[in-house]
Amino acid sequence: MTVDNQDYVLCSHCDLVIELTDVAVGHKATCPRCSTTLFKNQNNMKFRAAMYAFCSLIMLIVACGFIFIDINLVGNINGVSVLDIPKTLFFDKYSYISALFVLFVLVFPLLNLSIIVLLCSKIKLTKYRKRDLLIVYEKIQHWCMPEIFLTGILVSFVKLMSYGSIGVTGTFWAFCLFVFFYIKALVIFTPGKIWNEIHRNNFTLKPLQVGKTGIYQNIKLCNCCHAMVPTEYAKCPRCKQKSQLRGRDKIQWTIALLVTSLIIYIPANLFGIMITEVFGSPSSSTIMDGVIYMWQAGDVPVALIIFAASVVIPILKIISLSLLCYFALAVKHKKKRNCLKMKKLYNAVEFIGKWSMIDIFVVSVVCSLVRNQQMMGVYPDIGVSFFATVVIITMIASQKFDPRLLWDRIPTRK
Ligand SMILES: [Zn+2]
Ligand SMILES: [Zn+2]
Repeated sequence: MTVDNQDYVLCSHCDLVIELTDVAVGHKATCPRCSTTLFKNQNNMKFRAAMYAFCSLIMLIVACGFIFIDINLVGNINGVSVLDIPKTLFFDKYSYISALFVLFVLVFPLLNLSIIVLLCSKIKLTKYRKRDLLIVYEKIQHWCMPEIFLTGILVSFVKLMSYGSIGVTGTFWAFCLFVFFYIKALVIFTPGKIWNEIHRNNFTLKPLQVGKTGIYQNIKLCNCCHAMVPTEYAKCPRCKQKSQLRGRDKIQWTIALLVTSLIIYIPANLFGIMITEVFGSPSSSTIMDGVIYMWQAGDVPVALIIFAASVVIPILKIISLSLLCYFALAVKHKKKRNCLKMKKLYNAVEFIGKWSMIDIFVVSVVCSLVRNQQMMGVYPDIGVSFFATVVIITMIASQKFDPRLLWDRIPTRK
């Protein structure tokens, strides 16, 4: 089976022009230079993606409606639904964290799943409507975190065990199914196929030379829809978004955001993230206090997960992105081997970035569950807002970075 109207593609990572021929159903095409996936020919993509997205939406609605976790706090049973978590944060005057929770765990995944259903079902849409939906999908997909929230719930169970016995209801399993179907829908959905229904991806007028870079042939890749556009076009003709030949000026943004996140990382660790109040006497605990407490209580794996997600990953991310900026701008003679290493580092930074949100979700779950007016209560502390800001800023920093800059100074095949 041939790839519909898509004979050439430009690699989004290394800017190489590649000819795509005969990608069999169930297979994918990868870049010969940097191994980035260029195209996936999913079997029956539209039907399967729409089905999984639809099932996921149903499970999300069920999961939001009822109590999904309960805890027995010295005789008092306290149950919460998914929606109670942001509500509690809001009433604790942490509307910032509450808003992040609603957006990242509920609204953005809900929007993305609805977009997949609309684009992949038999509903008739104009090409302008399809374009708008795909642009929204591209913009918010980095910010969907239901799978991280689910991991956060599992980690919080270990913390909650020290307060009382925990129970889960059928709604909890509905939430697990929502996350499972959500991941399946995302893996199957191929936006490139829908973009090609709007217009083919090649807007260049002259013949392309395979194995040479786009910059050498005066063509650039649209960052939004991945069309190949002549460099003189300010906007992409397919998605009407502005695109640059290289995001060289964005490196300044990356560096500025990294410095900002490094500054905010200090109060995020110095201030407490959680206040535990027992019989009216409050005590605040920082991220490291939580790790040490878990370690001493014998929950070594959970202590390591929280230590890795909250302390190691943000610092590693800041160091890695600084190294990538240095490699992109300052190294004059690059070797392919080093470029590949840097590309792997960039992929790792992109992947692990949002996993630092785990601790925020753990705090949200624990705070909403452990409430017993007379005896004890757990409340968020100011450090949690600083920490969430560090995660968000480092995520924006890695999105601003243009990976094509890593490959610009190595010779391509003649
Ligand atoms: Zn490549
Ligand atoms: Zn475009």
